[in-house]
Amino acid sequence: MHQRDGIRDVVIIGSGPAGYTAALYAARAQLRPLLFGSSIFVGGSLTTTTEVENFPGFPTGVDGPDLMDNMRAQAERFGAEMIDDDIVEVDLTGDIKLLTDSAGTVHRARTVIIATGSGYRKLGLPNEEELSGRGVSWCATCDGFFFRDRDIVVVGGGDTAMEEATFLTRFARSVTIVHRRSTLRASKVMQNRAFADDKITFAFDSEIAEIESDNGMLSGVVLRDTLTGKTRDLDVTGLFIAIGHDPRTELFTGQVDLDDEGHIKAASPSTRTNISGVFAAGDVVDHTYRQAITAAGTGAAAALDAERYLAALA
Ligand code: FAD
Repeated sequence: MHQRDGIRDVVIIGSGPAGYTAALYAARAQLRPLLFGSSIFVGGSLTTTTEVENFPGFPTGVDGPDLMDNMRAQAERFGAEMIDDDIVEVDLTGDIKLLTDSAGTVHRARTVIIATGSGYRKLGLPNEEELSGRGVSWCATCDGFFFRDRDIVVVGGGDTAMEEATFLTRFARSVTIVHRRSTLRASKVMQNRAFADDKITFAFDSEIAEIESDNGMLSGVVLRDTLTGKTRDLDVTGLFIAIGHDPRTELFTGQVDLDDEGHIKAASPSTRTNISGVFAAGDVVDHTYRQAITAAGTGAAAALDAERYLAALA
């Protein structure tokens, strides 16, 4: 059933929580899925962090890379096949979908689950990634709890930055919002909420020029005035970067319907896209939650949707 005439029933693109969970469900449905998990970034976003404290089932937390290794092993145990390579070209428009890997091999599939995730935008400073999980974060929901009674800086001027900053005041002693311009992009409601918060102050017309570290942990930042070029030290031990994220959808542009920000449009609450037989799950779809558990949840839903679609074909 899983590979009639050399055609796979299910091919999954992406090896984060969404892709691995889709692989687990499809494998347990005897569909023997094939998953392409990237050549350089196997295991997805959680492999770039250390402690994950909010994934259910781990009362004392779990190391991000370990969690992803376990998800992969669990799917493999039921027969999912994994290839650590990129899909570089797709033609999803026909009944049989064509996916080309980096060696030029074309794989054929009746259904495709897209779980390619999204990347947080970075400031582009030299030690930013090295200090990820060591004072630098892109996710207040994930990491806010680690910053109790600390002084924190949040970079950004949109709704996400205001929301992250306001959320962080539950834990932090102080939050400074750093924004390159003199006015915010955030909606008035979100701005007003931030302006009204005693713990939040603003550094307008400013950007982070340097991230300072001590013993491998963030120990402060240098702010630069974008108008005068003058710099000053800011004594913080947390830096949250909230300048947006880019869904990894370039490959699907022109075939799968995307929204204005480049996320795949799915017929929520299902994972169906505009192309029959093509489903999408995880952060590549999600504007709002962007959590490992929500990605895993929609990954399960995508496998169930694919299974039902295949059953209707039989
Ligand atoms: P991803 O995890 O991004 O995985 C997508 C994968 O697909 C990547 O490996 C990518 O390389 C691969 N891919 C993309 N294109 C292709 C292609 N063409 N071919 C093959 N493979 C491809 N969430 C929490 O719930 N708790 C936390 O504590 C937490 N901490 C975080 C810390 C950091 C530093 C970061 C960056 C994120 C954190 N998150 C956390 C968010 C969480 O990691 C994401 O919400 C989740 O990983 C999204 O899962 P996903 O499967 O949609 O995508």
